[in-house]
Amino acid sequence: MPELAKKLETTVNERLRQVAPSAIREFDDRVSQIPDIIKLSLGEPDQNVPEHVKQAAIASIVANDSHYSAQKGSLPLRQAISQYLQRKQNLNYDANNEIVVTIGATEAITSTLFSLLNAGDEVIVPTPSYALYFPIIELTGAKIVMVDTSQTDFVLTPAALSKALEQHPRTRLIILNYPTNPTGREYSQAEVTALAQIIEKYPVYVLSDEIYSELVYDQPHFSIARLLPEQTILISGVSKSHAMTGYRIGYLAAPHATVTEITKMHAFMVTAPTNSSQAAATEALNNGDADPQASVQIYRKRRDFIQRRLNEIGFETVSPQGAFYVFAKIPEQFNQNDNEFAWQLAQQAHVGCTPGNGFGAGGAGYLRFSYAASDEDLTEAMNRIEKFVQQEGGQ
Ligand code: PLP
Repeated sequence: MPELAKKLETTVNERLRQVAPSAIREFDDRVSQIPDIIKLSLGEPDQNVPEHVKQAAIASIVANDSHYSAQKGSLPLRQAISQYLQRKQNLNYDANNEIVVTIGATEAITSTLFSLLNAGDEVIVPTPSYALYFPIIELTGAKIVMVDTSQTDFVLTPAALSKALEQHPRTRLIILNYPTNPTGREYSQAEVTALAQIIEKYPVYVLSDEIYSELVYDQPHFSIARLLPEQTILISGVSKSHAMTGYRIGYLAAPHATVTEITKMHAFMVTAPTNSSQAAATEALNNGDADPQASVQIYRKRRDFIQRRLNEIGFETVSPQGAFYVFAKIPEQFNQNDNEFAWQLAQQAHVGCTPGNGFGAGGAGYLRFSYAASDEDLTEAMNRIEKFVQQEGGQ
């Protein structure tokens, strides 16, 4: 019955139909087909999960820990998160009422946005930013207000935030992500304080995505939740800190009433997180403070190397203070858009990176390189890029 099939094919949620599939992922899929490609496009650590963390997952399976966990996540993990946030940020979240364990930070973001937004609300997003926020906001029916930070050293300034809040009275939520994907920019305590002084005057939430907070190079991370506990939904997880992206454990912390609402959405979507992954994350947070520090030593060397090489080759870079990305401006002589440039680089030099336009306003003309890759790959990739730029850039 082809007519019936045709009708069913077009029977999808209207908002979902409108949302474009991830341009970044599509580009990456194309690039991945190229033989001998060195991909500096991945947003995940290249380290192994620490041995003590793996053993905790194994022990959980062997002990037949196989029943549904509490919806908000296992109590030992919520306690570990609470103690971790206290130890690292001097924050006080009650493990019983103010923390939810989620399926990666991704689900914390999705559950939060679906719980708090109504159609027609506005959401301020400093850009370039992690691309996942855009489709989720659109799916809720809310509107994205991009604030381009490319002219202000890739940080949201108090002036730009005030202007956006004044011009968009339907703003219900502000998204912050620092250290920032894709620029690696970290916000100092003074920068966070200046933003908090504005935000506290408005009845808005802050979704603060701090998933890279353990991967900082120059200054300690300072959570905005310390200044705005009533307004902040603090989101983080162990994906980046403990190289556990595939374990899928993130979390959110917020005031009790907010957590109650978000927990409803979370339970509808996922019921509860996986037990063995929760056991591993509990171990990582209770006994794994040294693990990310070891990674930071490795990433810092790579950051210095890749930034120096890109600058030598002719790219201006945003100085990364955290995460594992360098955001680099395509040299002027190319006069090319970032999609074209990145595609040529992939085809001719066999180096994969991520075109900047997918990260929103201010990203066009830039490329994101991830240095979560081996020293050998980074060295070879930089040599290939250098050759490409010399040949194609007419230098
Ligand atoms: N938030 C940011 C800023 C990210 O860069 C990523 C992953 O790249 C995530 C959230 C998703 O984290 P998870 O793998 O824990 O879902």
